[in-house]
Amino acid sequence: MQLVCLDLEGVLVPEIWIEFSQRTGIPELRRTTRDEPDYDKLMKYRLAILAQHKLGLPDIQKVIAEMGPMPGAKDFLDDLRQRFQVIILSDTFYEFAMPLMQQLGMPTLFCHKLESDSSGMLVNYHLRMPNQKRESVKRFKELNFKTIAAGDSYNDTAMLGEAHAGILFHPPENVIREFPQYPVTMNYAELDAEIRKASARI
Ligand SMILES: [Mg+2]
Repeated sequence: MQLVCLDLEGVLVPEIWIEFSQRTGIPELRRTTRDEPDYDKLMKYRLAILAQHKLGLPDIQKVIAEMGPMPGAKDFLDDLRQRFQVIILSDTFYEFAMPLMQQLGMPTLFCHKLESDSSGMLVNYHLRMPNQKRESVKRFKELNFKTIAAGDSYNDTAMLGEAHAGILFHPPENVIREFPQYPVTMNYAELDAEIRKASARI
């Protein structure tokens, strides 16, 4: 049995922070792992901006509830799940992702947790463990699964490197340049074709 590990944001759903930034008109929240590879730095920056604007979890969840998955994402995922065990490995948080996961048919998601105070203001974030994407793939390999991984940005490259096959999906130019060893796919048809190729090879 082969596993497919997929990144969430930028692959199946829009970048949550970017969408939130657009709807709230706070341009500073557009910063993602594409711009700042240091995830801890990025999260502390985001929480500080939210606190500055007095925006708490209920405000954020309202926006996310109105966002849908990317067009074609559910069909792509449903089809993929017929052929592989699929696990979504994301650096987002359960509190953010659940309204979108429901729209995707509740696939398995490994991600992180947020901490809010009694007024709903976000006070901290908790990573389940450092480098969970790569560590997860490592553990799947220890369980004798062959693993194919796909993602779009810096925080996916360690997972892609750990997997038996790594694939980039709609990545920014700088990631394509820095990681020329991975095939680049730009839509679900291309990603599906690369996954089929990798599956036959590994
Ligand atoms: Mg992503």
